[in-house]
Amino acid sequence: MSKSFTHQFDTPAYKGTATIETGLFIDGKWVAPVEGGELEIVNPATGKLITKVAAGSKADVDIAVDAAKKAYKTSWGLHVPGKERGRILSKLADLIEANQQELAALESLNVGKLYKYALGDIIGSTATFRYYAGWADKVHGKTIETDENKLAYTRHEPYGVCGGIIPWNFPFGMLSWKIAPALATGNVVVLKPSEITPLTALKFAGLLNEAGIPPGVVNIVPGYGPTVGQAISEHPLIAKVAFTGSTLVGRKVLEASSKTNLKVVTLELGGKSPNIIFDDADLEQAVKWASMGIFFNMGQVCTAGSRIFVQEGIYPKFIEAFTAAAKQVGSAIGDPFGSNTSHGPQVSKTQFDRVMGYIESGKKAGANVLVGGEKFGDDGFFIQPTVFSECKSDMAIVKEEIFGPVAAIIKFKDESEVIEMANDTVYGLACAVFTENVGRAIRVAHALEAGMAWVNCYNSVDTNVPFGGYKQSGIGRELGEYALETYTQVKSVHINIGTRL
Ligand code: NAD
Repeated sequence: MSKSFTHQFDTPAYKGTATIETGLFIDGKWVAPVEGGELEIVNPATGKLITKVAAGSKADVDIAVDAAKKAYKTSWGLHVPGKERGRILSKLADLIEANQQELAALESLNVGKLYKYALGDIIGSTATFRYYAGWADKVHGKTIETDENKLAYTRHEPYGVCGGIIPWNFPFGMLSWKIAPALATGNVVVLKPSEITPLTALKFAGLLNEAGIPPGVVNIVPGYGPTVGQAISEHPLIAKVAFTGSTLVGRKVLEASSKTNLKVVTLELGGKSPNIIFDDADLEQAVKWASMGIFFNMGQVCTAGSRIFVQEGIYPKFIEAFTAAAKQVGSAIGDPFGSNTSHGPQVSKTQFDRVMGYIESGKKAGANVLVGGEKFGDDGFFIQPTVFSECKSDMAIVKEEIFGPVAAIIKFKDESEVIEMANDTVYGLACAVFTENVGRAIRVAHALEAGMAWVNCYNSVDTNVPFGGYKQSGIGRELGEYALETYTQVKSVHINIGTRL
């Protein structure tokens, strides 16, 4: 048995009701946690409690894994043909679509992201489920020529029980990136949403039975990282874990796995992505994309273009236009459901304090505040869009991931210098280059050490294009055909068709 929570939205952006169960979803049923823990879910726009949600523990993960293992052996995995898995995933996508406004409202309430962007996230996640539904019956092996009397072929088989551990910045998007490819390839899942933002994962759990997902195939266990997250990372019957979050915690997931069953671990981690503006860039375009690159989702984006390198010829004009753009983003800070709101709160008090700490460190280190640099209002966790110029490579605001609306602008002279500066980081998630010179665009995109390079745009993410990082930004790729490889293991079958001993 679990409790339910209903919220009435009467806002300019959305009017309606959202209802969720607040228990754990295990084996197709809502259950109370074995040890009876709770998470307090806070509205970042007000700092006030929204509701309480059950928090699992290791004991609940054990129960969820047993249910998942049973489901894998009886009602999913190799027992259900790909085309049937695809049909069920399509139905799930339809149900998400039918509930998209309610899901978006819950996401916006819980994360503080603007409602219109939350709706975009849900629509994108529906596309992810549809995309992988389409792949479910198209994951093939190869036939390989060997000796005259032998035949060999490969099968791409599921791992079995997969763990998913996700962050708070795109809760539903990250859920879809984990669950859709896992189910399409025949795996079953135990997923832990962030302890800060579990509401849409619980709404999603409520759609699974109706979609025809058999009990145990998807289990949602909200809870804290060091308990539920650690239990998933260590569990000997979980064969693969997909983690999105900080590099610090990603390291812990790898360590936990290495100490138990050497599970396959894919990691999507942090970043400090360079955005490079050359003298010959289209200034208006560069400013618009750079502003979106750092201020979208209040800077809480792993690919945020937080280091903006500007060539000296265009520097004065860029500074003037970018300052104006940042002021525009900060012109309507407030309620994520407001009809004109341009900028919402950071997700939590912890994140607010962390980002304000970086802003203070930038000021102390001698960087120049061009825009912002202060908190906004007295309620909730709002921070003004902030731009620093005169940044030096050894400053914390240039080296470390801030995960907030804080841009560091750095002036450069030429291509070789900027490539060296841009690559001077432990991260390698994304990068961008703005230039009208196609040769330079390609040269620089290739020279930068990052898993994703954008030319004359920023933050373009597509369901069918792989997403992931170099260096300490991650291991493996999500999205696209590439993600199918990380959810399947290859079996080689050798057949004797002639030789007798
Ligand atoms: P986080 O690392 O603190 O938490 C991520 C998840 O890990 C949460 O569910 C948390 O409960 C869990 N966790 C915490 N301790 C754990 C432990 N010991 N064992 C197992 N799980 C544990 O990150 P966050 O604050 O939720 O999110 C922000 C970070 O996520 C940023 O660094 C950001 O760059 C990164 N991120 C990366 C991507 C990407 O695709 N590369 C996408 C979104 C966010």
